[in-house]
Amino acid sequence: MLQPPHSSLQIAAVPARRAAAPDRDQDAPWHTEAVCRRDEAGLFFAPSKEPTAARLSREEAAKRVCARCPVMVECREHALLQPEPYGVWGGLTAAERRVVLARRRRREIELKKSPRQGPIAAAG
Ligand code: SF4
Repeated sequence: MLQPPHSSLQIAAVPARRAAAPDRDQDAPWHTEAVCRRDEAGLFFAPSKEPTAARLSREEAAKRVCARCPVMVECREHALLQPEPYGVWGGLTAAERRVVLARRRRREIELKKSPRQGPIAAAG
Protein backbone atom coordinates (compact mmCIF):
# COMPACT_ATOMS: atom_id res chain seq x y z
CA MET A 1 0.00 0.00 0.00
CA LEU A 2 1.30 3.44 -0.85
CA GLN A 3 1.78 5.94 1.93
CA PRO A 4 0.03 9.28 1.83
CA PRO A 5 2.38 11.93 0.45
CA HIS A 6 2.53 13.71 3.75
CA SER A 7 2.95 10.90 6.19
CA SER A 8 6.51 12.02 6.87
CA LEU A 9 5.64 15.63 7.46
CA GLN A 10 5.43 15.39 11.23
CA ILE A 11 9.06 16.52 11.32
CA ALA A 12 8.87 19.05 8.52
CA ALA A 13 9.39 22.60 9.64
CA VAL A 14 7.94 24.72 6.90
CA PRO A 15 6.98 28.30 7.52
CA ALA A 16 3.28 28.53 6.91
CA ARG A 17 1.91 31.15 4.56
CA ARG A 18 -1.68 31.22 5.56
CA ALA A 19 -2.88 34.63 4.61
CA ALA A 20 -4.86 33.14 1.72
CA ALA A 21 -7.10 31.10 4.01
CA PRO A 22 -7.78 33.03 7.20
CA ASP A 23 -10.60 30.69 8.25
CA ARG A 24 -8.16 27.86 8.87
CA ASP A 25 -6.73 26.93 12.26
CA GLN A 26 -3.53 28.95 12.24
CA ASP A 27 -1.86 26.75 14.85
CA ALA A 28 -2.46 23.38 13.17
CA PRO A 29 0.34 21.92 11.05
CA TRP A 30 -0.51 22.55 7.42
CA HIS A 31 -0.47 18.89 6.45
CA THR A 32 -3.37 18.11 8.77
CA GLU A 33 -5.55 19.77 6.13
CA ALA A 34 -4.07 17.88 3.19
CA VAL A 35 -6.84 16.63 0.94
CA CYS A 36 -4.71 13.69 -0.14
CA ARG A 37 -4.62 12.29 3.38
CA ARG A 38 -8.20 11.18 2.99
CA ASP A 39 -8.44 8.82 0.07
CA GLU A 40 -6.43 9.62 -3.03
CA ALA A 41 -2.93 8.77 -1.84
CA GLY A 42 -2.46 6.20 -4.58
CA LEU A 43 -2.53 8.96 -7.15
CA PHE A 44 0.51 10.77 -5.91
CA PHE A 45 3.32 8.26 -6.31
CA ALA A 46 4.14 6.05 -9.25
CA PRO A 47 3.88 2.31 -8.89
CA SER A 48 6.90 0.47 -10.24
CA LYS A 49 7.12 0.09 -14.01
CA GLU A 50 4.25 2.46 -14.67
CA PRO A 51 3.75 3.08 -18.40
CA THR A 52 4.15 6.69 -19.49
CA ALA A 53 0.53 7.17 -20.53
CA ALA A 54 -0.68 5.82 -17.20
CA ARG A 55 1.77 8.06 -15.34
CA LEU A 56 0.60 11.15 -17.18
CA SER A 57 -3.03 10.30 -16.50
CA ARG A 58 -2.35 9.59 -12.82
CA GLU A 59 -0.38 12.81 -12.40
CA GLU A 60 -3.15 14.87 -13.96
CA ALA A 61 -5.65 13.26 -11.60
CA ALA A 62 -3.37 14.05 -8.65
CA LYS A 63 -3.04 17.64 -9.81
CA ARG A 64 -6.83 17.95 -9.89
CA VAL A 65 -6.89 16.87 -6.25
CA CYS A 66 -4.16 19.40 -5.42
CA ALA A 67 -6.10 22.16 -7.16
CA ARG A 68 -8.85 21.90 -4.53
CA CYS A 69 -6.50 21.46 -1.59
CA PRO A 70 -6.43 24.30 0.96
CA VAL A 71 -2.73 23.81 1.70
CA MET A 72 -1.39 23.63 -1.83
CA VAL A 73 0.99 26.56 -1.38
CA GLU A 74 2.47 25.18 1.82
CA CYS A 75 2.73 21.70 0.35
CA ARG A 76 4.49 22.93 -2.77
CA GLU A 77 6.97 24.97 -0.79
CA HIS A 78 7.67 22.05 1.50
CA ALA A 79 8.38 19.81 -1.49
CA LEU A 80 10.68 22.42 -2.99
CA LEU A 81 12.56 23.06 0.24
CA GLN A 82 13.17 19.44 1.20
CA PRO A 83 13.40 18.73 -1.75
CA GLU A 84 10.99 15.83 -2.22
CA PRO A 85 12.38 13.77 -5.11
CA TYR A 86 9.27 11.74 -5.96
CA GLY A 87 5.57 12.16 -6.40
CA VAL A 88 3.14 14.98 -6.98
CA TRP A 89 3.29 17.64 -4.27
CA GLY A 90 1.49 20.94 -4.33
CA GLY A 91 0.25 20.35 -7.85
CA LEU A 92 3.72 19.80 -9.29
CA THR A 93 5.39 16.64 -10.47
CA ALA A 94 8.98 15.89 -9.52
CA ALA A 95 10.14 17.06 -12.96
CA GLU A 96 8.19 20.30 -12.64
CA ARG A 97 9.71 20.92 -9.22
CA ARG A 98 13.17 20.45 -10.65
CA VAL A 99 12.39 23.16 -13.21
CA VAL A 100 11.16 25.53 -10.49
CA LEU A 101 14.26 24.87 -8.40
CA ALA A 102 16.55 25.44 -11.37
CA ARG A 103 14.80 28.77 -12.05
CA ARG A 104 15.18 29.79 -8.42
CA ARG A 105 18.88 28.92 -8.47
CA ARG A 106 19.39 30.91 -11.65
CA ARG A 107 17.53 33.87 -10.15
CA GLU A 108 19.65 33.70 -6.97
CA ILE A 109 22.84 33.62 -9.03
CA GLU A 110 21.69 36.61 -11.07
CA LEU A 111 20.81 38.54 -7.92
CA LYS A 112 24.23 37.81 -6.44
CA LYS A 113 25.92 39.01 -9.60
CA SER A 114 24.05 42.31 -9.61
CA PRO A 115 22.87 42.95 -6.04
CA ARG A 116 22.50 46.71 -6.53
CA GLN A 117 19.86 46.60 -9.25
CA GLY A 118 16.90 46.22 -6.90
CA PRO A 119 14.45 48.96 -5.87
CA ILE A 120 16.51 49.85 -2.76
CA ALA A 121 19.59 50.61 -4.84
CA ALA A 122 17.48 52.61 -7.28
CA ALA A 123 15.96 54.64 -4.43
CA GLY A 124 19.32 55.26 -2.79
S1 SF4 B 1 -1.44 20.04 -2.49
FE1 SF4 B 1 -1.76 17.98 -3.27
S2 SF4 B 1 -0.07 16.72 -2.51
FE2 SF4 B 1 -0.15 18.62 -1.32
S3 SF4 B 1 -1.36 18.19 0.50
FE3 SF4 B 1 -2.75 19.00 -1.03
S4 SF4 B 1 -3.56 17.27 -2.14
FE4 SF4 B 1 -1.75 16.55 -1.02
